[in-house]
Amino acid sequence: MNTDSEKRPLLGMTIEELQSVVTELAMPKFTASQIAQWIYEKRVTSIESMTNLSKQNREKLSLHYTVGRKSPAGEARSKDGTAKYLFEVAGGKMVESVYIPDNDRGNERATLCVSSQVGCKMGCRFCMTGKQGFHGNLTANEIINQIFSIPEAERLTNIVYMGMGEPTDNLDEVLKTVRMMTEKWGLAWSPKRITVSTIGAIPGLQRLLRETHVHIAISVHSPFHDERKELMPIEAAFPVSKVMELLRGYDFAHQRRLSVEYIMWRGVNDDDNHADALASLLKGTSARVNLIRFHAIPGVALNTSDEKRMTAFRDYLNSKGVLCTIRRSRGEDIMAACGMLAGKKLK
Ligand code: SF4
Repeated sequence: MNTDSEKRPLLGMTIEELQSVVTELAMPKFTASQIAQWIYEKRVTSIESMTNLSKQNREKLSLHYTVGRKSPAGEARSKDGTAKYLFEVAGGKMVESVYIPDNDRGNERATLCVSSQVGCKMGCRFCMTGKQGFHGNLTANEIINQIFSIPEAERLTNIVYMGMGEPTDNLDEVLKTVRMMTEKWGLAWSPKRITVSTIGAIPGLQRLLRETHVHIAISVHSPFHDERKELMPIEAAFPVSKVMELLRGYDFAHQRRLSVEYIMWRGVNDDDNHADALASLLKGTSARVNLIRFHAIPGVALNTSDEKRMTAFRDYLNSKGVLCTIRRSRGEDIMAACGMLAGKKLK
């Protein structure tokens, strides 16, 4: 028999992959749906618990497969209720997920921000994950396990792919997990409960638009080509003006939401000139803008804009007809806020 670490995880397999598993093991085809139901809907953690499979089939399955759930290796809790979880992935590397409980005008929300890569290739100047460099893609199992294995898993109402990594750079695995969340054989969530955030690599963005109905968030941070290129090297290959051109041609009706993330740096991108250019850039899209405070990270000479400037920037955009809000910072005391994730060992 294989040891547990040599067995393949079932969690993270699509229905088609589960069908291949049961075919390979000469089990009836409908067993794939039963396994999917045990893993995704009933959330079992052992093959032994799949009681409508015959004992013989459970034993056969257990020889080469495991459910593949893995608890967090560490956690830190913020005084504001946010929790950061550390997960060990292949090669002993670490990634982080951030749990954010919230009360949105009387509606209890519980959002998990998940990671899709260990580190990141994109090298954005202001980002702690980018500073680490790239250390590998997560598998669908390693992504979906974050969603299933935090203590608050059954309370989650929303998922955002905004943790470590650029989702479009590991899109096959990310898309599989979106299917697990939204299809009938998985959790059957509405795609409106999921947001994928990207810096706007166009081919990946096109696939996201074509193959899913999730909300899309684009990290813009500057409306000016040269300035954005300094902050985000991706601008050289995929200028944000082209990204918006693509999005303008796409129908965002049916409640699919487009948002723009805009981190505000004092004296860099926070004056009315930027607000004007941003409003022009977004013309003809239905994008709403989230203004984000910058959380200082070591070795980066950028400072956050103050409250007064952020409010003025927001009001200016609103006066131009662009829906704009300031995002409340969460989990800064545990290094869990936007741009602060680095997969460091936690206590
Ligand atoms: Fe990567 Fe996103 Fe950080 Fe840029 S901001 S380096 S895309 S994780």
